[in-house]
Amino acid sequence: MAGLYIHIPFCKQACTYCNFHFSTNLKYTGELVTALHRELAQRKSFLPGRRISTIYFGGGTPSLLHAGQIKSLLSDIRAWYEVDSGPEVTLEANPDDLNPLYLRQVREAGINRLSIGVQSFFDEDLKFMHRAHHSGQALDSIRMSKDAGFENITIDLIYGIPGSSLDQWRQNLFQAFELEVPHLSCYALTVEPRTILSDWIKKGKAAVPDEEETIRQFEFLMEEAERRGWRHYEISNFAKAGFESRHNSSYWEGTEYLGIGPSAHSYREGERQWNVANNHLYLKALAEGLPPYESEHLSPENIYNEYILTRIRTAEGLDLFKVPESFRAHLVQCAVKHLQQGHLEREGNFYRLTRKGKFIADRVTVDLFL
Ligand code: SF4
Repeated sequence: MAGLYIHIPFCKQACTYCNFHFSTNLKYTGELVTALHRELAQRKSFLPGRRISTIYFGGGTPSLLHAGQIKSLLSDIRAWYEVDSGPEVTLEANPDDLNPLYLRQVREAGINRLSIGVQSFFDEDLKFMHRAHHSGQALDSIRMSKDAGFENITIDLIYGIPGSSLDQWRQNLFQAFELEVPHLSCYALTVEPRTILSDWIKKGKAAVPDEEETIRQFEFLMEEAERRGWRHYEISNFAKAGFESRHNSSYWEGTEYLGIGPSAHSYREGERQWNVANNHLYLKALAEGLPPYESEHLSPENIYNEYILTRIRTAEGLDLFKVPESFRAHLVQCAVKHLQQGHLEREGNFYRLTRKGKFIADRVTVDLFL
C-alpha cells in the first residue's frame, strides 16, 4: 500500500497566513502539467511492487487545473503505477473554482473526494485572510458538490482569527454541521514567518491571535464534535464514521508515498526525498531529464522523532512496541511528567494525548523527542 501526492503550485492570490509553496503567476500552468507528466514517468519505479491506494491533488490550488488536465494526470498514474481497484482520489478545491460542469467533469475524471477550502463563512474573515472567495460561494460550492454526486466532502475551517469571538466560531461550526459534510479539518490560525500576516503584525496592522480565545474555540470544537458523535481522529481532523481521510491517515501510519511536483516530499524505507520548492527550477530539471529532488537517509533518531511527531496527534496514539527497542526507555521516561500532569494517558502499550494534552500537543511532542 502506498500514497501518491501531486502538488499544484499556483494560487490566484496569496492568503495572508499561508506559507505553502505556490506562485500567483499562472502563465506556467500548462508547462507545469507537462513537467508533472514527465516526473510521473521518471519516478514510476520509486515504489516497486507497492499498490497506490490513495491519490491526493494538493497545493496551492489544484482546482485551477482544467478537468482535462486532471484526467490526463490520472490516466498516466493508472498507466504507470499499480493502482488499487478502489483508490481514494482527493482534489483540494477553492469555492470560487467550483461550478456544476467542472464538478461533473472532475468526478468523471476519477476524483471521488473533495477538500474544499472554506476557512470561514464570514465575509469579514475571508477578507482579512485575503481569500479569493466570499461566503456565498462557500455555501454554493458545497451544495453544488453534493448535487454533482460527491458524498465524501471535507471542508477546511480556521479558528482563532484575531478579533473573532466564540460566538462567531460557533456560527461557523454550526453552519458546517448544518451543511452535513462528513469531514472537517479545523486549524488554529498560526502566524508563520514570511507571510503577509506576520508582516502586518510587525507593522502593527493586525493583532496577534489571542491564545486564550483560540483555546476556547478549540475546546468548543472538540465538545461539539463529540456531542454530535463525530470521531476526533487526529488533532485537526474530525469525521463521521467511515469518512476519515485515508490519504492523511496513511501518512500518520508511516505508509510510503511518492510526492510529485515542486516542494512535494516522498518517503520510502527510511529515505526521504524533497522536490525543489521553486517552479522555475522544477520545470528546468524536468525539461533536462534531471531528478528534481534531494534526498537523505533518515537516522534511527530521525525515524523515532518522525514517529512521535505524526502519531501523537492521532486518536490511536503512540504504540510503544512500534518504537525501536533502544528508544523505548527514553519514551517511557519522558512521558512520566506528562502522565502525572494529565497531558498523556497510557493504555497498555499506547500513549495518547488527553483532552488537556491536546492544547499543548506541540510541547508534549518536543518533550518526547530524542
Ligand atoms: S489558496 Fe491555499 S495554498 Fe493558496 S495561498 Fe491560500 S491558503 Fe495558501
